[in-house]
Amino acid sequence: MTGSDVVERLRAVLPPAAVVTEAAALAERASDRSGLAGDTGALALVRPGSTAEVSAALAVADATGTPVVPQGALTGLAGGGNALPGALLLDLGRMRRILSIDPVERHAVVQPGVIVADLQAAVADQGLFYPPDPASAAISTIGGTIATNAGGMRAIKYGVTRDSVRSLEVVLADGTVLRTRAQTVKAVAGLDLTDLIVGSEGTLAVVTEATLALRPAPGTQAGVAATFPDVASALEAANAIVTGGALPVTLELLDGVALDAIRALEPDVDLPGVAASGGPGAWLVAVTDDEASATADLARFEAAMHEHGALGVQRAGDERELHAVLAARRQLHPAMRALRGASLNGDVALPRRRLAEFVRGLDAVAARHGIGISVGGHVGDGNLHPVLAFDGDDAEAARTAHAAFADVVALAQSLGGTATGEHGVGLEKLPALAGEFDERMLALQRRVKAAFDPRGILNPGKKLG
Ligand SMILES: Cc1cc2nc3c(=O)[nH]c(=O)nc-3n(C[C@H](O)[C@H](O)[C@H](O)COP(=O)(O)OP(=O)(O)OC[C@H]3O[C@@H](n4cnc5c(N)ncnc54)[C@H](O)[C@@H]3O)c2cc1C
Repeated sequence: MTGSDVVERLRAVLPPAAVVTEAAALAERASDRSGLAGDTGALALVRPGSTAEVSAALAVADATGTPVVPQGALTGLAGGGNALPGALLLDLGRMRRILSIDPVERHAVVQPGVIVADLQAAVADQGLFYPPDPASAAISTIGGTIATNAGGMRAIKYGVTRDSVRSLEVVLADGTVLRTRAQTVKAVAGLDLTDLIVGSEGTLAVVTEATLALRPAPGTQAGVAATFPDVASALEAANAIVTGGALPVTLELLDGVALDAIRALEPDVDLPGVAASGGPGAWLVAVTDDEASATADLARFEAAMHEHGALGVQRAGDERELHAVLAARRQLHPAMRALRGASLNGDVALPRRRLAEFVRGLDAVAARHGIGISVGGHVGDGNLHPVLAFDGDDAEAARTAHAAFADVVALAQSLGGTATGEHGVGLEKLPALAGEFDERMLALQRRVKAAFDPRGILNPGKKLG
């Protein structure tokens, strides 16, 4: 069966506009934001408008042994959505309807192509709240965030995407359409395949509809930021805040290099406390969304910051100012990439008690390879993003960055951490799997994959290798 036979079979079961083969369209959908180049030799871009069309496309793929790469908005940072040679690129972006928002069930039923921030805004209109808030909320899809189990800026209080997913409609590799569980608040019948599919990076099934748990809208946010002479003291303050009896909704860190990079990208941004302390070594922001206890919460955060050597502590003036600060924090990756043209974005998660050891280890890795390693991220979850900026046109610099990056991941694993806390394995983290699981565990995971996808056509080579 040739590639054009496959395309012909797809055209027989899908509307004409849903099957695109122009090279420019394929190139546009080849790569996510990981910096890894996807293959430009995909067979076709398939743009289904319904679950039935996803099912029809997968039935053709299964019958012809054609690989399929599910794709959301391609904001992924691990290569999970990158095109593969001869594959169908299954772009779920046209399925972008919010089907219902139910205040009694306190859930929303949505298609996978809905943009996260659009859902957040739609439920807010009804006094409800969808907590998952990756820094990419304005540009990433519900399907992509479910497939990567995205974390983000509110996970410390409300959990990661998995904690908000009640039930999924999925299409298996052979085109079978299934619901993973009842849409009820509680449901423990059968094995929990919902949680297995969340975070499976498009290797087990294609998510075509999600029932998402909502919460009552939280209170107005208030926050305080502090500068520190070094990352170590900011980490001590962060751990003191986490244990201090008032759980922040957001607790984020940036080191001095990341701060400068963000200020270079966004010259107008006013990060509280930074101007007053010149070039600090680190910056920490802590936010509460509990109006009833806000005054006491902020006082506790400030006390912890002062106690651990803050150079300056400043409250955000109001919620608008705070949102501007958090929007600036969201620019960590683009700002670091803009520094030298290319960057490797780490995503390690560690036991919070070992963060300081990790950061000391980073200094040693940086010195060994002669490269700068900056760090920022969701420190409240122990989820840091070490970033290595380098000149993308310099092959030697790229080699050095990759070697240092591997050492950073191994360092995290040696301290009881993981190679990825939220971005996923994709293609980028495959070499790190052996440092985290023994062969029997990997073999078990591959058997699970084979049970879902016996012909191995769904995102082959990603996630598990
Ligand atoms: C500036 C920036 C900030 C970011 N901040 C964060 C952050 O704070 N936290 C975080 O977790 N991530 C963050 N990310 C990474 C990225 O946004 C997330 O991984 C997001 O979940 C990807 O969503 P997407 O729609 O772009 O999916 P894609 O990149 O298109 O795909 C991601 C993975 O999901 C699979 N997939 C997509 N849709 C489906 C579907 N319907 N069914 C099955 N599989 C599917 C793909 O095959 C791929 O493996 C950030 C990225 C950027 C660029």
